[in-house]
Amino acid sequence: AETPNKGHIVMVPLMAQGHLIPFLALARQIQQNTSFTITIANTPQNIQHLRSALSSSTSPNHQIHLAELVPFNSTQHSNKDNNTQKAPLTDLLKLGYASLTLEPPFRSLISQITEEDGHPPLCIISDMFLGWVNNVAKSLGTRNLTFTTCGAYGILAYISIWSNLPHRKTDSDEFHVPGFPQNYRFHKTQLHRFLQAADGTDDWSRFLVPQIQLSMKSDGWICNTIEKIEPLGLKLLRNYLQLPVWAVGPLLPPASLMGSKHRSGKETGIALDACMEWLDSKDENSVLYISFGSLHTINASQMMALAEGLEESGKSFIWVIRPPVGFDINGEFSAEWLPKGFEESMRDTKRGLLVHKWGPQLEILSHTSTGAFLSHCGWNSVLESLSYGVPMIGWPIVADQPYNVKMLVEEMGVAVELTRSTETVVSREKVKKTIEIVMDYEGKGKVMKEKANEIAAYIREAKTEKGKEKGSSVRAMDDLVTTILSPKVL
Ligand code: UDP
Repeated sequence: AETPNKGHIVMVPLMAQGHLIPFLALARQIQQNTSFTITIANTPQNIQHLRSALSSSTSPNHQIHLAELVPFNSTQHSNKDNNTQKAPLTDLLKLGYASLTLEPPFRSLISQITEEDGHPPLCIISDMFLGWVNNVAKSLGTRNLTFTTCGAYGILAYISIWSNLPHRKTDSDEFHVPGFPQNYRFHKTQLHRFLQAADGTDDWSRFLVPQIQLSMKSDGWICNTIEKIEPLGLKLLRNYLQLPVWAVGPLLPPASLMGSKHRSGKETGIALDACMEWLDSKDENSVLYISFGSLHTINASQMMALAEGLEESGKSFIWVIRPPVGFDINGEFSAEWLPKGFEESMRDTKRGLLVHKWGPQLEILSHTSTGAFLSHCGWNSVLESLSYGVPMIGWPIVADQPYNVKMLVEEMGVAVELTRSTETVVSREKVKKTIEIVMDYEGKGKVMKEKANEIAAYIREAKTEKGKEKGSSVRAMDDLVTTILSPKVL
């Protein structure tokens, strides 16, 4: 629908790659459906990252403007900004606190836009972590929508647990999460260490709880998900928030927007060709792909057990590997972290390919030789895997990942959980056994593969547009645009 909708939308992601890229994908999606002017606001370094991502992509981006927010207290902030691309988890909290210093420059930006356009923006779309934007929007009478880069089920568990501290009111290891059916049980090992300790007075609670509460007061939520793959999660989230929730996913970024920093180098050019060539030489569904996303890694003894279990499983694999916990995740890799001669022997026998630092994930998942994905189950990885009908082995580490895995296992039946967090002892036998279950296409693995293919079809369907027949995500996007254009009831 190419209706000429004039108006300005301002978008504010959290300053981390896993948020910037889905925001950019959402911006492009809105841009395809409308002629709104879109401005994405962020810190100078992230704007530079977005600018290079946009300039290396081929489609026109004339309506996406980028605005730098320079914190007034810029000397204190610049350090933090330097860490945003690949921040380890504790730095995410620093990022959160740092985001609060962006409010004054954000207010100035909105005043400037209001002056230039002659009226305030039609809508401000902000990250769930940046609830303070809601205060800015309210003071202008502008509509504020929250965009969550997570799935509906995962984000509901996350916001509900944080909103109902202390979540575990008894000594039992299992507990109920408000918003989920009464008989639903979560386990304490699905809470990260600092969430287990959170009581409302710690740093995490003091930042997150008010931001979540403010985001829950926005005018609606946009979710990077699909009606038919998360019917339960969406129903429960709508019920919990009592707000409109638009499921507009999957917002998969064009490959050229992914990790341009890494992919532009010679190193990754070789990785892409090498991966494709290697996969071409393998049988259909015979390869296990392994990656823990852009921010995470496992601990040294887990890494050893994973390597040994892989070796014993006899399966082929591509492993995007980074130094273990305690070392610079982007630093040099040492052979000591793997069994002696592992990388060479896997290469020589063509059993396994180790890709250091960054792998071409979408290309690997879309290859017919890839049969399963051992993943930390960050939401983007989940959507990418499901889009290509690839079942998963879950190894969640933090945030919404444990809840994503719970849903993949219990609601969708497309995954088996291997372990949780970087604090467990994993045995090579468990690794081998789990791989065998998921990649055995006679038994349980066959059922998972069929379900994953069914979900892939739902995802494609959601995005189709044949004349008057529109998929659910296309309709949600139409409805979102209509809402943005309708007068806001104050
Ligand atoms: N990714 C990639 N190559 C890698 C690691 C990650 O292309 O080696 C991409 C992956 O395709 C996904 C994103 O980075 O789009 C990771 O997002 P996700 O939500 O899965 O996890 P996060 O990194 O935010 O924990």
